[in-house]
Amino acid sequence: MLLKGKNIIATGGASGIGAACVKRFAEEGADFILIVDINLDMAKKVAAEIAEATGAQVEAVRADITSEEDIKNVFTVFKQYRDRLDVLLNCAGIGLIKPMEEITCDHWDRTMNINVRSVFLFSREALKMMIPNNYGRIVNMSSQAGKSGGIMIGMDYAISKAGVLNLTKSFAKKAAPHNITVNSVAPGLIATAMTTTFGYDPETVPLKRIGTPEEVADAVLFVASDLSRYVTGSCIDVNGGILMS
Ligand code: NAD
Repeated sequence: MLLKGKNIIATGGASGIGAACVKRFAEEGADFILIVDINLDMAKKVAAEIAEATGAQVEAVRADITSEEDIKNVFTVFKQYRDRLDVLLNCAGIGLIKPMEEITCDHWDRTMNINVRSVFLFSREALKMMIPNNYGRIVNMSSQAGKSGGIMIGMDYAISKAGVLNLTKSFAKKAAPHNITVNSVAPGLIATAMTTTFGYDPETVPLKRIGTPEEVADAVLFVASDLSRYVTGSCIDVNGGILMS
């Protein structure tokens, strides 16, 4: 029970890696999890399924994380349930296959606002709750592409995920004096809705297969829990060995 009694906000928890993380958190004894997603129907369905399976209280709130107002509202809603925030998971993201020539300013801004700016805004708001408690764990979802650069996946995506790596270090330095750790996880190719059309060859992965959301969730659990209490500003690669950094 690595997260016994913990209160958690998880963005992108309606699907894929985020949903697997919420399930793992609940299995590890989390007391309360608020799923934040633009897809409220899916978020509510996932919340109900996980609550029933584990006994944790799992609620859902709709937010478009490109909106600062929506993000502030998430914290207002969270405070209606709990006054202590222990863990923030920033997992919501978008990633499209887009050749560089087709990346418009609108597309660039949307990717950056969802994948990086939201992580800044959520982390900024979370610190306001975590610092007075002298405790917190922030986990940000980066990507292998954030380290390797993007070829098939859009350059905008790769650059946004590189931003998440630096944001993680910057927040880690800011939060460390308050016993708050900030880490990222960088998955390689994971079987989710986002990657159904990607068509990567598993044979190119040293472990000879594509990863699962549950395998990313296990790494997230480590940095969300006190097993990683002396780890901050780090990134855990979960990529089957395709990029060793
Ligand atoms: P997914 O599409 O299954 O899940 C993404 C979630 O984010 C969805 O529930 C979606 O509704 C939500 N979301 C998207 N835009 C939003 C917005 N504007 N406001 C609120 N919620 C929004 O994808 P996934 O594969 O589970 O990806 C989760 C995270 O992992 C992303 O940050 C992604 O970049 C990262 N990642 C995924 C892979 C992979 O291979 N699947 C690899 C590396 C990194």
